Amino acid sequence: MIKTRLTQMLGITHPVIQGGMQWVGRAEMTSAVANGGGLGVLTALTQPSPEYLLKEIARCKDLTDNPFAVNLTILPTIKPVPYADYVDAIIDSGIKIVETAGRNPEPFLPAMKAAGITIIHKCTSIRHSLKAEKIGCDMVSVDGFECAGHPGEDDVTNLILLPLAAQRLKIPFIASGGFADGRGLAAALAMGADGINMGTRFMVTQEAPIHVNVKQAMVDASELDTTLLYRSLRNTARVFKNSVAEQVLEIEEREGPTYFDDIAPLVKGTKGKDLLEKGELDHGIWSAGMVIGLINDIPTCKDLIERIVDDAEAIITERLDNLVSA
Ligand code: NAD
Repeated sequence: MIKTRLTQMLGITHPVIQGGMQWVGRAEMTSAVANGGGLGVLTALTQPSPEYLLKEIARCKDLTDNPFAVNLTILPTIKPVPYADYVDAIIDSGIKIVETAGRNPEPFLPAMKAAGITIIHKCTSIRHSLKAEKIGCDMVSVDGFECAGHPGEDDVTNLILLPLAAQRLKIPFIASGGFADGRGLAAALAMGADGINMGTRFMVTQEAPIHVNVKQAMVDASELDTTLLYRSLRNTARVFKNSVAEQVLEIEEREGPTYFDDIAPLVKGTKGKDLLEKGELDHGIWSAGMVIGLINDIPTCKDLIERIVDDAEAIITERLDNLVSA
């Protein structure tokens, strides 16, 4: 067993959090991680309205008795999102852990704190992590450049970000981006983190509610099979490098400014949702981290979490201990 401030503060068995993934963070995914002893995370915007989010939270409570969280991502979207209404739904549902991501969550903090919610803010830089600590977030999830989805615009990897977080933050932090195995967990703990957050790795599990073709594509892929979109719009996102991602890159590389309207038909989330459900790999785009290079199988969430924790324990108590006591 590995006990950290994360396991203690959240009441979970293992220091492993499932990333808040658009279209993937549904009750099946979240409850499987929670039942495996990690922190499962429902993704609020995967639900078309706050009312549907309430139903999904209820469905997840039927599937697990363990704690789980809700992710609320505040980034540019094609359709405007009624964030305040989603926050109200989260509070009304009795959820006690929320992961915020994207923009500064400050406007929503007083209401969530008053409801006794523990706030984990996901940040891609040390300056945003310090700001999150200052405004009263309870923890931060530090997202390195390796990550899937939106890595920010600084391109700093976790080998730098995590020790910086350890030097400067007082609140606990979670290492996110590039984690898939026991080596990663042991390294994250060594760099001062209280646990790891994994998105892509949990997509490639038995219970992830996505088509097996997508899971198999990520098993077959290497660390070179992701690419960065929307750099020209300062809304960078790391995705699986398929033919649609390559078309977007071609448009972005054209001379002159890029207009989002020119790429929106290719990247819109509803197409990505269809892709994940139907397994047609060139129908749209999907987020994937460099960590696909480390993924070789499709285990259950419970087996995956236990393997990661067991391997990390063995590295710490055998390999590392032998090195210092030799
Ligand atoms: P969507 O269909 O609204 O948009 C598709 C993509 O285009 C998203 O990446 C979005 O950020 C981007 N986008 C939208 N409008 C833009 C604009 N005007 N300029 C630049 N980029 C723009 O998004 P969705 O797939 O339904 O996802 C909903 C939200 O969840 C989005 O904000 C998305 O970014 C976010 N998300 C986050 C992650 C992550 O890294 N955690 C992963 C997937 C989606």
